Amino acid sequence: MNIIRKKTSKCFIGQAIIGGESHISIQSMTNTATRDVERTIKQCQQLFDEGADFVRITVPSISDVSHIKEITQKLKTKGIHQPIIADVHFKPDVAEALPSIVDKIRINPGNYIDKRNKFSTETSDFYLNKGIENTAMRAKSLLTKCKENGTAIRIGTNHGSLSDRIVAQYGNTPLAMATSAMEWIDICESFDFKNIVLSLKASNVRFMMDSYMLLSEMMEAKGTFYPLHIGVTEAGGGLEGRAKSAAGIGALLLNGLGDTIRVSLTEAPIHEIRFARKLLNILNELNSECYSIDENRLLHFSLDEPDKEKFIAGVASICSFEHYKEPIRDLHLQNIYLSGNEIKSIEQIVLQAVGIKFFYAEFISCPSCGRTEFNIEEVAARVKDRFSSYKGLKIGIMGCIVNGPGEMADANYGVVGAGKDRLVVYKGKSPVSKSLPIPEALEYLEKLIETDSNNC
Ligand code: SF4
Repeated sequence: MNIIRKKTSKCFIGQAIIGGESHISIQSMTNTATRDVERTIKQCQQLFDEGADFVRITVPSISDVSHIKEITQKLKTKGIHQPIIADVHFKPDVAEALPSIVDKIRINPGNYIDKRNKFSTETSDFYLNKGIENTAMRAKSLLTKCKENGTAIRIGTNHGSLSDRIVAQYGNTPLAMATSAMEWIDICESFDFKNIVLSLKASNVRFMMDSYMLLSEMMEAKGTFYPLHIGVTEAGGGLEGRAKSAAGIGALLLNGLGDTIRVSLTEAPIHEIRFARKLLNILNELNSECYSIDENRLLHFSLDEPDKEKFIAGVASICSFEHYKEPIRDLHLQNIYLSGNEIKSIEQIVLQAVGIKFFYAEFISCPSCGRTEFNIEEVAARVKDRFSSYKGLKIGIMGCIVNGPGEMADANYGVVGAGKDRLVVYKGKSPVSKSLPIPEALEYLEKLIETDSNNC
């Protein structure tokens, strides 16, 4: 397919560039503890060897600043000069300690300072402006240091962690997502800081696409178009996670949006890079002869592709791209390399990922990062295995108590990491258990869902 990207400004990250004329870059995030310097270095190396353009590392506390410093220094002594990005939530002091250490810092507008803003749930213009003013005052130091050091910033808005102030003003909507990012653009520009990338991630493909499309319109109206980092957050794992990621990322790329991509899978990060490459390759290889849409809005997609992941990346991208323009009602796939059962299963997975038809429970699971203290891949597989047949149910499996509950806020049930090999069980937005060892927590979740289903 012919991807014609919207022209964006350039964001300089070390010696690399996101946006402008540069290629669509791919990135991932380490899931080792940042304090485990040697394992984190090893994972960075693996990701770069696999083709990552950048690697992000979480910096959960001020004590981790020295760890990421050691990581970046040791990578350089090994001859690895690709950019390293720090991921910061809740802690402006941590972000302010990083500009001389990393090439880019991801901050989250929803929790940079707003959560602690005492005006946060007021909705009058006075309090809205006060909130923006407070954020600008706090952001000044970070932006000044980033400017001095040539460090870029990603304004990384997430659906699950919008600030109370933004939600009170704009609801839990794509407008809230786009406005949250636009506020930070204004703040950055007021300090003459323009080395920025933006992201608006959500686990729901439609919501995430609406948010990016809206931001794109808002930036266009303003006359400044910054590069976009695109991804579907908490997409899960397996073919389902790949289909959801491709549905969001592929469809946006086909709409001309996206300068760097991150596939989020609840799997080892190397799989994210592998799938991101397959997604970009298939988008380049596809042409309009691969598919047609009949008068009943049935999408016929035919491609003899032996790689199942690549095939699903192509189908999900096209299906989501076309569905966004005008609803698709069903899918009919052909691929001589796949059996009838495999074809049927992929049709269902893609239809559910795009939000056209639903066949099984939906799992929202994070990719995990240095904050995760349990084997999330194993727990997610067990939860999926046990509850897949509960069609219509949304179950979250999240790596940490810091961001997990917010990010899975629209799930019916969930488990969230809380200590080494321990989980807290959630029903809706509320915790319903104390921190339990994994087997007990899963048993608790099972009984809870079964009891609730029997009472329905
Ligand atoms: S929710 Fe998952 S990916 Fe997000 S910060 Fe927590 S452990 Fe990391």
